This record gives sequence, structure tokens and C-alpha cells, in this order.
Amino acid sequence: MPPPSTAAPGTWDVIVVGAGPAGATAARVAAEHGCATLLLERAVIPRYKTCGGGLIGASLAALPAGLPLKIHDTARQFTFAHNGGKERTLDCRTPTCALVYRSELDAALTEAAAAAGAKVQDGTALTQLEQHGDTVTVKTGHGDTLHASVVVGADGSASRVARYVGVECAQVDLALEVEVPVDEATAARWRGRVLMEWGPLPGSFGWVFPKGDVCTAGVVAARGNPVALRAYKDDFLKRQGLLGPTPLHDTGHLTRCRRPGSPLARGRVLVAGDAAALVDHWSREGISYALRSGNLAGRAAGRIVTAGGETGSRDAVVAYTQQVEDTLGTEMEASGTLMNLFARNPGLVHSVITRLPPAWQRLDAYIADRTSVAGIMTNPLVRTAATAVTRGRPRSWGPISSAGR
Ligand SMILES: Cc1cc2nc3c(=O)[nH]c(=O)nc-3n(C[C@H](O)[C@H](O)[C@H](O)COP(=O)(O)OP(=O)(O)OC[C@H]3O[C@@H](n4cnc5c(N)ncnc54)[C@H](O)[C@@H]3O)c2cc1C
Repeated sequence: MPPPSTAAPGTWDVIVVGAGPAGATAARVAAEHGCATLLLERAVIPRYKTCGGGLIGASLAALPAGLPLKIHDTARQFTFAHNGGKERTLDCRTPTCALVYRSELDAALTEAAAAAGAKVQDGTALTQLEQHGDTVTVKTGHGDTLHASVVVGADGSASRVARYVGVECAQVDLALEVEVPVDEATAARWRGRVLMEWGPLPGSFGWVFPKGDVCTAGVVAARGNPVALRAYKDDFLKRQGLLGPTPLHDTGHLTRCRRPGSPLARGRVLVAGDAAALVDHWSREGISYALRSGNLAGRAAGRIVTAGGETGSRDAVVAYTQQVEDTLGTEMEASGTLMNLFARNPGLVHSVITRLPPAWQRLDAYIADRTSVAGIMTNPLVRTAATAVTRGRPRSWGPISSAGR
């Protein structure tokens, strides 16, 4: 690893904003490229993050090798249900989906960034940013003014940096989630088994993710009907026997999916992860997107710093945009089509998954990272169903939920 370049106090090669999976990864990769890197985090690490903490194969594959991380359970089975009925439990060919606490995952990723040479400054929020020439200036909540050649905005779904870059969303959802302590009998009932229930609101579902003596459970649906979503959450938790115990956490969070072609950079400011609204339209899985885009953003930041001049920097930004579009953009396009099908006919999707073994095998292969959502969507059966259900609709996922940040 080349040594970080020396710089005046308050001046960095790369400033990364947000120490979630996207930011911690971008900071680690930029530091590994020899950049003097500052990772700014508003919260104090370790911090709680509303999230199921389900790591599919693509997420596990994108973690740095040897990351010390406690896995609290691994899903050997998936139970699918539709509107509280038609339950069917299916076995995973290779149990892959790991269930973790985000506080632990994000702290481990931040440690890895620090071990690679990044300076971590938590309890410090970005409050303002602007750029002039080849310098980006960042102001923090402590009143400090910092300068960098590149800024990576990885500050989550309510990102300030995304507003600056002009990220546009096609789908905005509200998720309500609890973490509930469970007794031994309840823990045994859930051990090794994840529940996904397709819900009564358009595009909605509920989940239970087991983590030993705790279950993480929640519901998600298009933003705009919080009363109905809360009622669904209570009903769902009651049916799963998880309404009684006082939750350790009871929170809500927005998830956002970008509009195709939405900007990923402005000048020398890049966005990654939830800040770039890179989230699967259907499952709302976002950790693999955060890790992969964080990795690409860290590399791009390294290239911008090395290139120095305007042309090299512009080329690196264009390359970042292209790489994200070619990989994650393609995945999101496929998941948008799937979401469109699901939102219009969840019963059909449920029947296909639970009654047609090849369909579950494909979904299971996606969870284990043996195929992608785009791979699932190449199945002629799925494509025919998607075309039939969405025939005559101009663009797939637009009407499902309210747009905008
Ligand atoms: C209820 C729910 C359940 C989910 N379950 C799953 C799941 O099981 N599996 C999965 O793959 N995905 C899941 N997701 C999606 C996943 O949580 C996100 O996609 C993922 O957290 C994105 O990571 P990130 O690093 O981009 O952002 P985040 O993890 O949100 O990290 C952003 C960080 O930026 C910090 N920050 C914000 N503003 C500032 C600022 N101004 N200055 C400095 N720091 C700032 C925040 O404190 C935070 O630490 C779920 C989402 C929700 C809402």
C-alpha cells in the first residue's frame, strides 16, 4: 500500500460521509489506494440502524476477507405467506443468508477502514458542502471547515450529499421494524428460519429474521399511508406472537430506490449506497448495493486523487457512473420489473414461488449469490408473467409509490 499523501491540517485526499456499509467500505478502499482519507460519522460508533441485518450471498461476497463478524443465525429455510395465510416453508440448497446486527457489522467495517489507514471521526455530522475548482469544502456540526479532492456521500437514505448531487427517486417506502427479545420456546420456533409474508398494501411485505434470543420483525410499504402500515405491523406482529414483549427497538425508516439514470456524482462529489438510492425495488435489500457501490466509489476516489487533473478526474467519475449503471443499475432495472409484477399481483408471485420448484430454486440461487435478480428475470416463465401483468403500462415501477426525495 503506498503511504497516504501528506497534507495541511484539515485537508484530505478523500472525505467519506457516513460510516454505514457504503461509507466504511469506500473509506477502506480509498485508504488502501494510498489516499489520506477521513471517515465522518454523525453518530457515535457503534450505532443502532433500523435494518433486518440479513446478509444475502452478494453481501457476504462483498465483505473484506477475514472481517470479524458475529453471525447470530443463518436461514436454512424460508417460510412464505400471503395475507396471513397460504404458508409454505421451503429449504435452502446451501444456507447462506446470514443474520447480523447492523451495529456490529458497521463497527467491524469501520474498524477495517481504520486498519487500512483511514481516520475515523464519529459524533461529527457534515452540515454543508460546496466545491470550487478541484477542491471540495465540507463544514461539520462542530464548526470545522475541511477540504478534500474528493467527497463520497454515503450518508444514508436521508442524505444531504444526495440533495447536493440531485439524486432522484422512483420509489419511496416506509419500513417499520421492531427488535423483540424472545423466550427459548419462541427462539426455537424461529431458529434457522426466515419468514416473508406478502402484505395487504400494494408492494408490501412483512418479515421475521431470527437472531437467537431476539427476533427482528417489520413491515414495509409505499410511503404515504402510515396509519394502514402501522395497523398491518400490529396485526403481523400479533399473528407471529411478537407483539407481547417490550421491543428493544421500535423504529421506522424510509427506503428509496433511484430513478434510472439518476446522477451518481456532481463534479468531485460521488454518492454510494442508500445516498445514491441503490436499493432493490422488490426486497428492499440494500446492504449488498451499499458494499458494492462503496467499493466502486472508493476506487474511483483513488483514481481521481492519482489522476490529479480535471480530465483524469472527469474520466474517473464517468467510469464510476458507468460501472454502477452496468452492475447495480441493471440489477435495479430487473428488480423494478419484478416489483411491478409483485405489486400488481402478489398472489401470483406467491403461487409461483411456492408451487413451482424451479422458481424457488432460482430465488434460492439468488439468495446464495449463484444468480442475480436480472438472472431470475431472464426465466421465460417470469418474463411472460411480467409482460402479461404489466401489459400496456408505460414504465415499470413509476406508479407504485410516491417519487422524490
Ligand atoms: C427496516 C429496514 C430493514 C432492512 N433490512 C435489510 C436487510 O435485512 N438486508 C439488507 O441488505 N438491507 C436491508 N435494508 C436496507 C439497508 O439497511 C440499507 O440499504 C443500508 O443500510 C445502506 O447502507 P449505507 O451505508 O448506504 O447507509 P446507512 O447504513 O444508512 O449509513 C449511513 C450513515 O451515514 C450517517 N450519516 C447520515 N447523515 C450524516 C451526516 N450529515 N454526516 C455524517 N454522517 C451522516 C448515518 O448516521 C449512518 O451511520 C433495510 C432497510 C430498512 C429501513
